[in-house]
Amino acid sequence: MDENQPKVFGIMGYPLAHSLSPLLHNRIYEAMGQKAVYKKFETRNPKACLDQIKALGVKGLCVTIPYKERVLSYLDTLHPSALEIGAVNTILNQEGRLVGYNTDGPGALRAIKEVMDLKGSSCLVVGAGGAARAIAISLRKEGARLYITNRSPENGLRLARDVQGTYLGLEALKGMELDLVVQATSLGMYPNMDAWPFDPEILKAKMVMEVIYNPLETKFLRRAKELGAKVILGYKMFVYQAMLQIRLFWGQDPPLELMEGITQEALLHHESPK
Ligand code: NAP
Repeated sequence: MDENQPKVFGIMGYPLAHSLSPLLHNRIYEAMGQKAVYKKFETRNPKACLDQIKALGVKGLCVTIPYKERVLSYLDTLHPSALEIGAVNTILNQEGRLVGYNTDGPGALRAIKEVMDLKGSSCLVVGAGGAARAIAISLRKEGARLYITNRSPENGLRLARDVQGTYLGLEALKGMELDLVVQATSLGMYPNMDAWPFDPEILKAKMVMEVIYNPLETKFLRRAKELGAKVILGYKMFVYQAMLQIRLFWGQDPPLELMEGITQEALLHHESPK
């Protein structure tokens, strides 16, 4: 490949119309002085798309909904971060060999560990989808005592078993005292911002984290704050998982404050799903 040509990176998923990643990555590459472009690979056929990625020499790829699990079987190697979570959100093209990583769990963990110590803490994860699984597995590795709750008990029970945690229905949550509650369902996300899985008033949480980043503050988080909890906004996880992706792509850390600024500004000024 011609060294004067910009390196190509991108995001694969469907749909991608409102993805925040191209804006963020392109601005950050520029700030890092890198000659590169970050493109959208919106596709219904992830396998064919990955063949193209190899053929075109695309250096790295972010993977989003709905392909984080599907791509596992299309890759040449899986890094332990992807193996332990069972999902891939980042692919590196190492001279034609596609290697899968996961930065969602580590990104969430970084946001949490900035503000609390997890060892021996009691943590409730609300949800049992991809985000909940990545976070629960990461919390478990840090020595947290884990509880899972979810709309569908069968999914919640499966996740609880996988992380040696305890599944609890809504009734059992009443009056519980917890160090951390992570809201990891899609309830409350734009445009259905009036939704939440339950009123956080039913329990007592010292810290509450949200995975949704649009809106910047969900109804669940607002209520938790009113009840006296400290909160971690969902955009923090978004920024940190993206920072770890950029570290994998470029072998160096991006300017974190600039990443936060770009993300916050984009979320404040665009009332659409990201
Ligand atoms: P997912 O795999 O589809 O899981 C969705 C979860 O939400 C499941 O637990 C599901 O419960 C629950 N749920 C969905 N609709 C519900 C409803 N009407 N009532 C009660 N529970 C409901 O999605 P995901 O990939 O985990 O994503 C979840 C959220 O995390 C999304 O908003 C996504 O944007 C966000 N996210 C944020 C970041 C970040 O960096 N901040 C990273 C990844 C994801 P069932 O099991 O019963 O279906």
